[in-house]
Amino acid sequence: MNILLTGGTGYIGSHAAIALKEAGHNIVIQDNFSNSSPLVLNRLALILGEEVPFIEGDIRNTNLVKAILQEFSVDAVMHFAGLKSVGESVLEPLKYYENNVLGSLSLLRAMKESNVKKIVFSSSATVYGIPRYLPINEAHPLKPVNPYGRTKLQVEQILEDEAECDALLKVVNLRYFNPVGAHKSGLIGEEPRGMPNNLMPFIARVAGGKLKELHIYGDDYDTFDGTGVRDYIHVMDLAEGHVAALNYLPHSSGFETFNLGTGDGCSVLQMIEVYRKASGREIPFRIVGRRQGDISSCYAAPNKANQILLWSAKLSLFEMCMSSWSFQEQLVN
Ligand code: NAD
Ligand code: UDP
Repeated sequence: MNILLTGGTGYIGSHAAIALKEAGHNIVIQDNFSNSSPLVLNRLALILGEEVPFIEGDIRNTNLVKAILQEFSVDAVMHFAGLKSVGESVLEPLKYYENNVLGSLSLLRAMKESNVKKIVFSSSATVYGIPRYLPINEAHPLKPVNPYGRTKLQVEQILEDEAECDALLKVVNLRYFNPVGAHKSGLIGEEPRGMPNNLMPFIARVAGGKLKELHIYGDDYDTFDGTGVRDYIHVMDLAEGHVAALNYLPHSSGFETFNLGTGDGCSVLQMIEVYRKASGREIPFRIVGRRQGDISSCYAAPNKANQILLWSAKLSLFEMCMSSWSFQEQLVN
């Protein structure tokens, strides 16, 4: 198939680009570089042995998106483009609604006018809000607790409404848990601008000596060692989940949601220990107070994706940390 990846030079999109190419699909990327670098395109070319067709631009430019869909005879869209910082979304909600919701509306309009009927959407476990039970399945109530999460839920609802009225539209809505790690080449990975907010890129910088110590946000949670528990999933497993979603799209009944996670919880202290072993570096840390808005535990019930998409996460925590470290070392050198 011919696939458009919006936001395809970003962290998850760039890894999905590799998996899609390896599965034999043709791809084209559109990105405005608001949170990525043109260097990613050179890295992708090195990994894939060929240049990836790329158009720079914002998905809110509907005419540009239409032109891309038509020029590249796009069959399906993978919609990664979006802003993703929870903290920033609290400080600048309008920026998030404008980018994530208006951006998605513009993309859907362009698809409608170009007769493109397949889309895979990058949603997030954030839409579930505070877990009412664990593991979280797709039927869990949806109550996001920040503007970022609400933009994701609104786009899900728009997609569901659109699929309801257009019987030909097929939507696979993927709710990611905590993607981490990097491609085995060490050439692409997660490289947040400024100070990292998330655990794994923070640990990577401490291991690489760029930051002095990790602050652990609380060791008094109701978990086995007191630190927060999450469902970390290797970004290449997630990328394979997109290939599986694409294969499933023609069979989808309209709008369908799948959790993409491992189903296993890992604590902050466990992650530090695995990273220490994988990198051979010490990870100094200090326990500080809880981070506002944090939850104790969150992990997926991935059974629906296992059974229907015929996909499951395969890579271990050690492989997540090893690949993150290979990428970090390449940045340090
Ligand atoms: P990322 O920031 O690395 O990638 C997003 C890409 O989209 C960036 O390259 C950015 O420049 C581009 N972009 C943003 N707005 C755009 C616009 N209006 N027009 C064109 N390009 C635009 O983020 P990521 O981690 O790769 O996440 C991809 C998607 O997955 C996002 O929608 C995010 O909300 C979702 N998601 C991410 C996580 C995570 O932990 N990384 C978890 C759940 C869901
Ligand atoms: N965390 C931490 N120190 C950090 C960043 C994160 O202790 O510098 C903890 C956080 O409290 C949570 C876990 O690591 O328990 C995962 O946090 P992250 O922000 O990566 O994911 P999210 O909380 O959004 O699922």
